[in-house]
Amino acid sequence: MKKILALFTVLCLLCCGAMAEGMPADGTYEAEAQGFGGPVSVSLTVEGGAITAVSIKGDAETPGLGGVAVEQMDEQILSAQTPNVDGIAGATVTSTAVVKAATEALTAAGADIAAMDANRKDAAADAEREQKTLETDVVIVGAGGAGMSAAITVHEAGKSVIILEKMAYVGGNTTKATGGMNAAETHYQAESGIEDSVDQFVEDTMKGGKNLNNPDLVRAMAANSAAAIDWLDTIGAPLPKVSFSGGATNARIHAPADGSGVGGYLVAAFSAKLSELGIEPMLNTKATELLRAEDGTVCGVRAEAPDAVYEIHAKSVILASGGFGANEEMYCQYRPDLRGTVTTNAPGATGDGIVMAQAVGADLVDIEQIQLHPTVEQTTSMLITEGVRGDGAILVNQEGKRFINEMETRDVVSAAELQQEGCYAYVVFDQRLRDGLKAIEKYVNNGLTVQADTPEELAKLIGCDPETFAKTLSDWNGYVAAKNDPDFGRATGMEEDLSVPPYYAIKIAPGIHHTMGGVKIDTLTHVIDTDGNVIPNLYACGEVTGGVHGGNRIGGNAVADIVVFGRIAGQQAAENVK
Ligand code: ADP
Repeated sequence: MKKILALFTVLCLLCCGAMAEGMPADGTYEAEAQGFGGPVSVSLTVEGGAITAVSIKGDAETPGLGGVAVEQMDEQILSAQTPNVDGIAGATVTSTAVVKAATEALTAAGADIAAMDANRKDAAADAEREQKTLETDVVIVGAGGAGMSAAITVHEAGKSVIILEKMAYVGGNTTKATGGMNAAETHYQAESGIEDSVDQFVEDTMKGGKNLNNPDLVRAMAANSAAAIDWLDTIGAPLPKVSFSGGATNARIHAPADGSGVGGYLVAAFSAKLSELGIEPMLNTKATELLRAEDGTVCGVRAEAPDAVYEIHAKSVILASGGFGANEEMYCQYRPDLRGTVTTNAPGATGDGIVMAQAVGADLVDIEQIQLHPTVEQTTSMLITEGVRGDGAILVNQEGKRFINEMETRDVVSAAELQQEGCYAYVVFDQRLRDGLKAIEKYVNNGLTVQADTPEELAKLIGCDPETFAKTLSDWNGYVAAKNDPDFGRATGMEEDLSVPPYYAIKIAPGIHHTMGGVKIDTLTHVIDTDGNVIPNLYACGEVTGGVHGGNRIGGNAVADIVVFGRIAGQQAAENVK
């Protein structure tokens, strides 16, 4: 639709011969700017006073995020007839690179961008929004991992399904999951001779969650996890690589064979499966309200898109809209102490499903339980992967001293950082570590690192006392050689010391990572009201719900949660269709 509007705008401009003010002379102009993963180049053709073609290239941008900006911003520029466009929410770095490159290309050709802005044509904004009514068996709010698992399952059960996604792209926070999926008693474990049990999975999850978790939900997740792994095999998303991860007694985390991040991998596989089944998520379509019949029962959702307002009538509604880690107002309502904390969350994680569910009487559980990630760069909210510490980096405070075993759990390291002067710290590593970890190139390319040839020079750059900092580093290198950390008892991630120049530091502090609380559900994903009763026709799964993770989510359980409960929600919602 947008593409048609963009072309329509261009045709109108050309037909009426309107030479827009500020446009450069006819020609094709090109420039490049630094994106998230590498250079982004933009080429624009100007003919008869209008931008008639835009081509954007950025092969290194993240598929599903920056990649969406590369694919879709040509339409925005064509529609607006200026490079100053909004870009794609959640892909700020790539969007900014596109705007910058396009602006530079046109300015160099003599354009007056301010005059072009003044002429802005936003065809979509001019369009009247149509009122539309749709009918389906099941409507799903949110196309992250939980929503897409549910949608495929509803289709497998032979029922019709509509899936809504308010962003321009699917995937939500799921895309950001890097580790894998916890599952016990799987065929992959058996094939590798790994002994594990559902009981042990339950025990580890309860312990990790400080026993605040709902034990019935934890058991449902663990008991259905092996079947979920089998199901992923059948839909072309196998997770065969099994290893240990924090908080698990046995090797239980299942990851893609090629070592790629589990979230991006699953989102790509789910999207491909949905396309194969003929189910296209309705993008840029935000659910705003649950519809209720005259007797008060839930019977669909109201949703808004740029060109239409929908009433979608359905027998069952599944909320799979994720958490609220990107909604500062909402998390401060439950945790005022977190005001001003940056977030690692996708921009769609604004708690809409929680608010919609509450409006029909749903109860909430553990809503104040919010997980902080300890290593988040604060100006970009970019998460510095745990792999950096796992490969041997240390954390130092502004005094240039270590203050914690860097391999402690996220909540412990975050709390320790908040005790330091200024509530921040630095992740410190060397060239050897950079050479071995691909993720670091992204941090360097985005200007997050400072570097120097000696520890003393690095200390000066970050404002630490050079002698103290250099002693911290040489003490640490001694501990690595002795395989003993007498200061904080670190025992892992110390295979290699930090002695190959240049040395690097990234300033970090805790950031909001996962909202463990949410809508109350039972083991069949029915939403439960404040009197403890099932709300008919309403289901919820994934990060929108509470109770599975208790007071702390352990790595690998977010993906287990979304696939297991996404499938249960899909089955239940389909069965509910008479
Ligand atoms: P989960 O891990 O539970 O699947 P995600 O964060 O991965 O959660 O996915 C949730 C998805 O729901 C995101 O893509 C988000 O943009 C989308 N979403 C959130 N609120 C709405 C809404 N009101 N309407 C449609 N989609 C929504």
